[in-house]
Amino acid sequence: MPAKPSTTLINPADETVLRTVEHVSLEGVDDAIARAVRAQRGWAAIAPAERAAALRRFATTVEGAIEELAWLEVRNSGHPISQARWEAGHVRDVLNYYSAAPERMIGKQIPVAGGIDLTFLEPLGVVGVIVPWNFPMTIASWGFAPALAAGNAVVLKPADWTPLTAIRLGELGLESGLPEGLFQVLPGRGSVVGERLITHESVRKIVFTGSTEVGKSVMAGCAEQVKAVTLELGGKSANVVFADADLEKAAATAPYAVFENAGQDCCARSRILVERSVFDRFLELLEPAVKGVKVGQPGEESTEMGPLVAKAHLEKVASYVDDDSRVAFRGSAPEGAGFWFTPTVLLPESRTDRTVTDEIFGPVVTVLPFDDEADGIALANDSIYGLSGSIWTRDAGRAIRVARGIESGNLSINSHSSVRYSTPFGGFKQSGLGRELGPDAASAFTETKNVFISTD
Ligand code: NAD
Repeated sequence: MPAKPSTTLINPADETVLRTVEHVSLEGVDDAIARAVRAQRGWAAIAPAERAAALRRFATTVEGAIEELAWLEVRNSGHPISQARWEAGHVRDVLNYYSAAPERMIGKQIPVAGGIDLTFLEPLGVVGVIVPWNFPMTIASWGFAPALAAGNAVVLKPADWTPLTAIRLGELGLESGLPEGLFQVLPGRGSVVGERLITHESVRKIVFTGSTEVGKSVMAGCAEQVKAVTLELGGKSANVVFADADLEKAAATAPYAVFENAGQDCCARSRILVERSVFDRFLELLEPAVKGVKVGQPGEESTEMGPLVAKAHLEKVASYVDDDSRVAFRGSAPEGAGFWFTPTVLLPESRTDRTVTDEIFGPVVTVLPFDDEADGIALANDSIYGLSGSIWTRDAGRAIRVARGIESGNLSINSHSSVRYSTPFGGFKQSGLGRELGPDAASAFTETKNVFISTD
């Protein structure tokens, strides 16, 4: 018998073999979806308060496994331990936040003649959640927690390179008492497991987070069955610094807005745009900040940036920095085994250079000057993407004008915050479709049903 397809996982910090994860076959996916269909019927039928309690128990079980989950992510993905702990805690928080939703799936009573009109928020059934490798557990929770809260079953496909925390979350769900089949994690190839979730008629919604290229094919596949789809795709976000800003603070924080998670962050502010009159001063301030980023072994508490996730990805990132690149300055990174890449600041010659337009998804940032407010907005918008961004100015009116002018889903003023579980998250343009998180996320996993009751 031929060996079953599998992935051998490599620790990105030292290139040692972690373990091999077997892929789920097509038949295995179909079986899992059949189990999910059955589990969902029971789940939707239990009292909302019981569903809420079950999600809180799941959150408590995750809470008890934070260290375990965090260390799995350190070894599988190379995330610094302090960041990985935050990620595991975030999963617990997302579950707790959406545990309030089952008892708040509130419909409307609409005034009509001759009777009473009611709306119900009905669960969709089975939801397929397909996630990328860059934040394996947090992004998964943005899909599965609100979907479960709204009364759905979830089948989750982790990324090939980073399945371990998702697999463990599936086990923790069962340990916490979730019904068998309600939340299943199926490792495997996108072209097998991912595609089957899209083509299977019992899966009524796909939540896809990943590259814009694959996202387009996911959307086209969903169109075949008029299947609902949420897309969280790529980004090339701008960090716009005006001359009147607190330049010291803007420069000190800019590296962390792009080099966090080694730049493997859809929200990375990978284009720093600086008003021309303070361009040189800003670069002077940026240099020590970049050199100060602590790049090192992910298991060390003080590490701020670890390695890239895989050799193939390292090669892709490295292809953007060659002998012809105009490198302003670079930080440091360990040498030897591991997929290390040094934080790099580029001064591209033109606004159309591929380092300015492409999502590099590594610790590489471009810095470009702009002339005035209108030019700054135009340059920020000169991208197929529109996911996040930052604006630095002391002028409150300008801050709001620019925030309204930038075509992007998540902006922060005089800071670099993007993701809070209690606020909506998602992209404009080719960065995505639909929103996750925030107070309305659970209702995105429902159909509105309208029922008229005659009083005649
Ligand atoms: P990817 O598109 O290669 O893969 C994402 C997931 O889709 C993986 O699980 C993969 O196995 C699966 N997949 C691949 N082909 C498929 C197919 N034909 N059908 C169904 N599923 C398929 O992305 P990646 O390299 O894992 O992640 C990096 C990308 O994700 C970047 O572009 C990044 O910006 C984006 N991202 C976006 C957000 C956001 O919220 N907007 C968040 C994180 C990452």
